[in-house]
Amino acid sequence: MASTDYDVIIIGGGPGGLTAGMYAARARLNVVLFEKAAPGGQVIVTDWVENYPGFPEGITGYDLGEKMVTQAKNLGLTIESEEITAMTLSKDEKTIHLGSGRTVTAHTVIIASGASPRKLDVGEAKFMGKGVSFCATCDAPFFRDKVLVAVGGGDTAVQEAIYLTKFATKVYLVHRRDELRATKVLQERALKNDKIEMIWDSVVTGMDGFFNVENVHVKNVKTQAQTTIKADGCFIWVGTTPNTSYVKDSVKTDEGGFVFTDTHMETSVPGVYAVGDVRTTPLKQITTAVGDGAIAAMSAEHFIENLKDVK
Ligand code: NAP
Repeated sequence: MASTDYDVIIIGGGPGGLTAGMYAARARLNVVLFEKAAPGGQVIVTDWVENYPGFPEGITGYDLGEKMVTQAKNLGLTIESEEITAMTLSKDEKTIHLGSGRTVTAHTVIIASGASPRKLDVGEAKFMGKGVSFCATCDAPFFRDKVLVAVGGGDTAVQEAIYLTKFATKVYLVHRRDELRATKVLQERALKNDKIEMIWDSVVTGMDGFFNVENVHVKNVKTQAQTTIKADGCFIWVGTTPNTSYVKDSVKTDEGGFVFTDTHMETSVPGVYAVGDVRTTPLKQITTAVGDGAIAAMSAEHFIENLKDVK
């Protein structure tokens, strides 16, 4: 068995990565977790979590993420602030290139780098920080008593549009179909919220404003009618794209770039695992990411045991 810097390298500090780290640390593996931003992942910018067991009254995403980080550290996980720039993967050794210029090796790698909000590409880039946002918990307080457009029909769009109504006077929720994708309980809350007006069968085609967003242009996909909504901001939640630029050609992915795994969370490369939102999975939840993380750590442990056996 070749000598490496680590038994396990975990890439990404969201719920999946942190759980993998807890299990690996408790298995007394030599493990490190690299996270380029604040550990906790997307959950720390989620305003409220009510479907993670153990918190009957619900919990803020920030608090839940922070508790997970503290728990992982208490169990012995080392978390380092580093970005992965590239990897070279073989069955026997995985080499990871870090943004700081360091190169480290491991027997196993757990990819837990999550996914980022998908862009609309209708000119929103020009208005980033000037009315356009992908994060309600970060930016909603800037829109007190303002009119907003929110885009999307999934859990994120509906949950975050409801959150926006704590600040805005009105939220137009623009969705490309006449039915929401979000879970029923969120749909019910949005549809009975007086501040939310649904703009069905419609897509955002552009936006304009002198400095900040002033108008959002919308097209009805059934009638082709174009309308303009006077709004101070536009929040976009139309799904996610996986954070896999550093690993893209090394492991098999689906057409959307999400990493394929088997039931052991193993990718197409032996000893390389993927967990949470970055992998192809029918359900992207904190609960499922946490389960993935536990399975991946156990699989990594078995993989390393087998390497010792064949020595
Ligand atoms: P999602 O479930 O993929 O939904 C994306 C939404 O955006 C869909 O309604 C989709 O429309 C729409 N959309 C996609 N591309 C579009 C485009 N180019 N123009 C206009 N609309 C477009 O993504 P998500 O809401 O970000 O959720 C991601 C995952 O996290 C999901 O698995 C979700 O369940 C989970 N999540 C769960 C919770 C919770 O449990 N409370 C909260 C947040 C997220 P169509 O419906 O027509 O496809």
